[in-house]
Amino acid sequence: MRIAMISEHASPLAVLGGEDAGGQNTHVAELSTALADAGHDVHVYTRRDDGTLPLHVPVRPGVTVVHVPAGPPDTVPKDQLLPYMPEFSRWLVEAWEGDGWLPEVVHAHFWMSGLAGLTAGRKLGLPVVLTYHALGTVKRRYQGARDTSPPRRVDYERALGRSVDRVIAQSGDEVRELARMGIPRSRMSVIPSGVDLTAFAPTGPVVPGDRRRVLSVGRLVERKGFGDVIRAMRLVPDAECVVVGGPPHRQLDTDPEARRLTDLIAECGLTDRVRLAGAVPREEMPAWYRSADVLVAAPWYEPFGLTPLEAMACGVPVVGTAVGGLTDTVVPGLTGDLVPARDPRSLGAAVQRLLTDRVRRTAYATAALDRARTRYSWQRTADQMADVYAAVSRVTEPSRVVA
Ligand code: UDP
Repeated sequence: MRIAMISEHASPLAVLGGEDAGGQNTHVAELSTALADAGHDVHVYTRRDDGTLPLHVPVRPGVTVVHVPAGPPDTVPKDQLLPYMPEFSRWLVEAWEGDGWLPEVVHAHFWMSGLAGLTAGRKLGLPVVLTYHALGTVKRRYQGARDTSPPRRVDYERALGRSVDRVIAQSGDEVRELARMGIPRSRMSVIPSGVDLTAFAPTGPVVPGDRRRVLSVGRLVERKGFGDVIRAMRLVPDAECVVVGGPPHRQLDTDPEARRLTDLIAECGLTDRVRLAGAVPREEMPAWYRSADVLVAAPWYEPFGLTPLEAMACGVPVVGTAVGGLTDTVVPGLTGDLVPARDPRSLGAAVQRLLTDRVRRTAYATAALDRARTRYSWQRTADQMADVYAAVSRVTEPSRVVA
């Protein structure tokens, strides 16, 4: 099938760890790869944010990234991209009408891609599928006045959910949020993200260390709860904690959130055993996970959360906060533990308990690996997604035709 992925701000080719580059980039890249491996032809449309980028970048057989010229050919924060969406969708219509590659289904990622994708898709009579990745209602709840999203984001998200042919929710928690927004459950399918089980596996290189290691990974934004992880480390004597993510290591002192966290580390008297590592290239991430005794994910909210899953696939137990996608991926008492968000005491106690109980750690690690492998392969995700694409485009596969 010809599939158009739209991911306006999150290019599958981007370097991860920056403020606007994280899970969605990985998700789009890996979903596209898995679909291509299953024989589909995928074009990923993302905004051209650098004038030197070629229009088409063939990434691998079956996956082409297309840099859409909409807005300045420069980095623009995602919360300022809305004005360029009409241009984005016009460009799509012209491209699809003109270049001989007409998709059979449009899959938009994030609400702004949804606007561009739906406008273009409706013009050409194409079915449109939407994955939100994050929801304005949730963001507003947690960030309040500091939420820089365009003011009408929630209205757009609601309208999109009622208009597209199918909404893909990534967790049970997201289904409940969407239902509360008034999006009919009949329009939703729950398909969790996958994890690259070849790259993220228990065997392979390990980043050396000489102490027990607590690892936490993600973009350096407040809601990821790294402040809580640092405070929790006061209750975890003897272990070190490494926070991976944010700008490259040498630029950490120019990043306000990194500076805030560095100050907090000093305030807590933890400079000798808690550190920020900065951004780590994707291919080096498995070695970091493998080096950890426990992965701590302490977000205040989390639409899905790839990092717990990546750790689980490397056979590492997770101590997380009981929010969003983590409540599906982590099974408390089996693959890890869940504690309330924004509660460094509970977090510290759970981490300390696990670090001092080797039997429990080994049992969690085995169950975590098993859960990642059986439930979260990209192949499984891609198969489920392809079924949705087929359903919305009313394609009858020949093998299923009843004579
Ligand atoms: N990541 C990375 N290098 C870094 C920090 C993060 O490759 O320095 C990757 C990480 O492995 C994961 C993604 O970025 O695949 C973060 O996804 P997650 O869903 O945890 O968070 P999001 O960024 O979507 O909020």
